[in-house]
Amino acid sequence: MRVLLIEDDPAVAAGIADALAGAAHDVRHEASGSAGLEAARTAAPDLVVLDLGLPDMDGTDVCRAIRAFSAVPIIVVSARSEEIDRVLALEMGADDFLVKPFGIRELIARIRAVTRRSGAEDRLSPPVERRLGPLAIDLRGQRVTLAGEPVHLTTTEYRILLYLSEEPGAVRPRSDILRAVWKTEWFGATKTLDAHIAALRKKLGSAGWIESVRGVGFRFETPA
Ligand code: CA
Repeated sequence: MRVLLIEDDPAVAAGIADALAGAAHDVRHEASGSAGLEAARTAAPDLVVLDLGLPDMDGTDVCRAIRAFSAVPIIVVSARSEEIDRVLALEMGADDFLVKPFGIRELIARIRAVTRRSGAEDRLSPPVERRLGPLAIDLRGQRVTLAGEPVHLTTTEYRILLYLSEEPGAVRPRSDILRAVWKTEWFGATKTLDAHIAALRKKLGSAGWIESVRGVGFRFETPA
């Protein structure tokens, strides 16, 4: 798999690049936001590992800029552990967030989870559309429209929406969502799930689509 690593710290970059190469990934390293963005545009990577603290641009802006032209999975790695950075990165379209320092095995596991998700989508392409009131999910093209207008979702948001809308009205426990979307029950991911749900609600223009069921999980409903 071709991995684009955007990281300005040479020691951190070398550690990650070595580990990824060891896991049979083809790594391209860029040390600035602008060079990373250019590489994302021209080299068509299969995955991007993105540092937030870059010398020329903020990583969240790089993330948003990549999202404007590509649905490539993006894993943000950052020394900034504040909740706001996590939420911002996920809102800007990142698929996952890792706080430095992290173990290389953890990174490899997250890469595997993110790519397994997109691989599963490639195999699962029934020629159907799911309609829920004004919301239409094109399951083959993975396109979502609301009252005919396109809704731009990240891969992870799309997976969550797909899972929740399978059975409107049914309560989906958090653990089931984590298992279905992230293939994990790692409970640190629960805040990540909340951030994705918040972003989804915003993009769907109403919190009414996804109701929180306190202490359990979420329920998908067509708002009245
Ligand atoms: Ca940095």
